[in-house]
Amino acid sequence: MLTRREFIRTAALFALAPEILAEPGREIWVNDVHSQLNRTRVRELLVPRTRDELAEIVRSASQKGLPISLSGCRHSMGGQQFATDSICIDTRSLNRVISFDQEHGLIEAEAGIQWPELIRTYLEAQRHNSRRWSIAQKQTGADTFTLGGSLSSNVHGRGLAMKPLISNIESFNLTNAEGKSIRCSRDENNELFRAAIGGYGLFGLIGTVTLRLVPRQKLRRAVEIVHASDLPKRFEERIAQKFLYGDFQFSVDEKSPDFLQRGVFSCYEPVDEHEPIVAEKKLRDDDWLDLLRLAYTDRENAFKRYSDYYLSTNGQTYWSDTSQLSAYLPNYAQKLREQIGGEESSLIITEIYVPRMDLPDFLAEAAELLRSNRTIVIYGTVRLIEKDDESFLAWAKESYACIIFNLLTLHTPGGTEASARSFRALIGLAITRGGSYYLTYHKFAKPEQVMACYPQFKQFLDLKRKYDPTERFQSDWYRYYRKLFAT
Ligand SMILES: Cc1cc2nc3c(=O)[nH]c(=O)nc-3n(C[C@H](O)[C@H](O)[C@H](O)COP(=O)(O)OP(=O)(O)OC[C@H]3O[C@@H](n4cnc5c(N)ncnc54)[C@H](O)[C@@H]3O)c2cc1C
Repeated sequence: MLTRREFIRTAALFALAPEILAEPGREIWVNDVHSQLNRTRVRELLVPRTRDELAEIVRSASQKGLPISLSGCRHSMGGQQFATDSICIDTRSLNRVISFDQEHGLIEAEAGIQWPELIRTYLEAQRHNSRRWSIAQKQTGADTFTLGGSLSSNVHGRGLAMKPLISNIESFNLTNAEGKSIRCSRDENNELFRAAIGGYGLFGLIGTVTLRLVPRQKLRRAVEIVHASDLPKRFEERIAQKFLYGDFQFSVDEKSPDFLQRGVFSCYEPVDEHEPIVAEKKLRDDDWLDLLRLAYTDRENAFKRYSDYYLSTNGQTYWSDTSQLSAYLPNYAQKLREQIGGEESSLIITEIYVPRMDLPDFLAEAAELLRSNRTIVIYGTVRLIEKDDESFLAWAKESYACIIFNLLTLHTPGGTEASARSFRALIGLAITRGGSYYLTYHKFAKPEQVMACYPQFKQFLDLKRKYDPTERFQSDWYRYYRKLFAT
């Protein structure tokens, strides 16, 4: 019989990862949240509650010679958070804030913490302050991402002049294959700092992270409808006017000449601290699902509804951190299927990078390509990134425009291959313009595309083996590329 405390703990763990209560002898299967296309059988799924428990799990796996995979909120889609038959560590219970240096704006937290909890904690700690700290950036499109998953993917938000997340990281502690904690920063173990950020969990488990915060600001949203041909200029103007965040959400109606050409251009400028926060209209989970349903069934109206909504929020004011939070339903695919029927499907994301001046030309050619491949785009956006000159496997090799596509993918071999074909062709369009793509949303790129965009990839694999010679930390994504580029 469980004690009350054990019962509460077991119930909490079950809510987090229901697979861990699998009966002895029953197989444990895990999957990614967004595409649901990475169903993987793991040997064990463990949820450490303390960093000591975590070190013990790692040491025990090392003694037994078993591979370990590391997962956060499981949003990745390339199979980098799971490894078949590995001990999968679910990091989400390592979620405490450890310290908050309010003088210097440095917050240290366990890496399993998710953005909403991190934001809630620092706001609570500063509730009596007139000047407050805030995160600089997080991912858009959803909030349930762990800090560790975000570091390992070196993510970005919608900053108009920001580098990826590495630029906001002061230091972190990484548990290596011996269960030893190593502090990494720009001054200590710098090579490991540069490898593990954007290292997709292959260098050890990031246990704690010290994040550098920025002053919290009030922002005003400015919304307009813009044509792709004007985008590079409009982005430049907004940056010159000191706007901090912004993106362009394009029409996904492939039957219209507006397809990938017209979009909602929303940017955020700082306003006086005495201005009231007035953001009466916002998208809730149900509104988001409704828009998604329209994007599946009636893309002309989806864009109209979306742009009308956004235009109606022109002039609203927001806080710089909470304005980055987004509605998202993890079980959207199932809910949509209940409403509109049809074959099993979901969305796969890809992110393509091109030199900013090539953006209009790229979008025009991408529209042609997606039409002729009969590919359905459910959602897409354009953002900017500044060059990352720190991480080893940097995806932001230059100061690029980033084009994000969510493609509707049927869960059939033909359906996945159709999306793969379009993704490869989009990557091809980027490469001819000196651009690139985000490495881990999927494994569809051709080997020569990987090498063209990530010429340091083989050295990255060598570096992984330098720091983890027994290859304790693995993923199916790693195994795929290790085989592909075996030397
Ligand atoms: C709807 C949606 C929107 C998105 N928007 C953006 C966006 O705006 N910008 C962007 O850059 N990305 C975006 N992404 C990609 C997503 O941000 C990354 O996949 C992110 O890392 C996921 O975090 P997670 O907690 O789900 O980690 P997981 O997917 O579980 O893991 C991600 C990687 O981190 C590793 N990892 C996890 N925890 C640790 C740890 N403690 N120590 C070491 N390694 C660890 C895993 O092994 C894996 O390689 C989006 C994805 C989705 C589905």
